[in-house]
Amino acid sequence: MKNVFNEKNTIDLLGQLVNIPSPSGYTKTIMQFIGSYLHDLGIEYKQTNKGAIIATIKGENDSSHRLLTAHTDTLGAMVKEVKANGRIKLTMIGGFRWNAVEGEYCTIHTADGKKIRGTILMHETTVHVYKEAGDLKRDENHIEVRIDEKCFNAEDVRKIGIEVGDFVSFDPRFETTESGFIKSRHLDDKASTTLLLQLVKFIKEQNISLPYTTHFYISNNEEIGYGGNSNVPEQVVEYIAVDMGAIGDGQSSDEYTVSICAKDSSGPYHYELTHYLVNLAKTNGIQYKLDIYPYYGSDASAAIRAGYDVKHALFGPGIEASHAYERTHVDSLKATAELLFAYVTSPMDSED
Ligand SMILES: [Zn+2]
Repeated sequence: MKNVFNEKNTIDLLGQLVNIPSPSGYTKTIMQFIGSYLHDLGIEYKQTNKGAIIATIKGENDSSHRLLTAHTDTLGAMVKEVKANGRIKLTMIGGFRWNAVEGEYCTIHTADGKKIRGTILMHETTVHVYKEAGDLKRDENHIEVRIDEKCFNAEDVRKIGIEVGDFVSFDPRFETTESGFIKSRHLDDKASTTLLLQLVKFIKEQNISLPYTTHFYISNNEEIGYGGNSNVPEQVVEYIAVDMGAIGDGQSSDEYTVSICAKDSSGPYHYELTHYLVNLAKTNGIQYKLDIYPYYGSDASAAIRAGYDVKHALFGPGIEASHAYERTHVDSLKATAELLFAYVTSPMDSED
């Protein structure tokens, strides 16, 4: 169990993933990266029409399957309007607050493949000009992108190839500290994606035989509600979403343990499977927190809503300041990696 979590490789891979722009709807590059990662490991996978990747490792029991999912899509934005002042107005992709991206550097991805840099700012940012700058509402009418090109009007913007519908990605600002923290945007859910990919690598390299055929579903539409809600193989009995634990006042989740979710906005997760995971953590000495996420949905609940008859559960690393200036600690990644391994190598809940 000790060597399930390789800190250096995990952080290196996480750093690579957060630096590949992938707002929901613009995930081709990151899914190609995932595909070649699996290909290099010699793992078979298929890609859905929606672009998700499902890698499968055959187990001793091939009639009852398990599925684990994490998502690579992130928050982002799209060009809503080209403004007469040579800047652009944004529309959000996913749920966040404008103040969480104010001041952020960004990239505009044009249809002809150019990457144009810019900064997300309030129109009224200059304090030497706008007296009320600090009090104005952060919304789509005040927030705009200052493009790092000589653009004085809408025509100039269009001349460099920017058009309505172009994707805009936010810089992740990935950073690790001596004290073990990982600070970056998009830890939701690239931290879990990293852990799933590392798990697949570990199973393959250590030649571990799994008790059940297990699918690793890397989804790419979770932030907009329909990531892992299709293409679930019919033999799947247990469906686990590996996604961030929500931290804040009244929450038990933290940055140092694996967070197991009992209930979120979609309702309770499967009670027996959830408590099976709690017991696995207990018996393996894995630090965990059982929690409830007040404003949250996962690909597991999306699959249930889509009509799949599966037992569903949710766990993952605790992520501080989610959908904003996210942070977690290696302790949380390690605890999650250990619970993942304990789970995929354990007997099925329903067969107890
Ligand atoms: Zn997520």
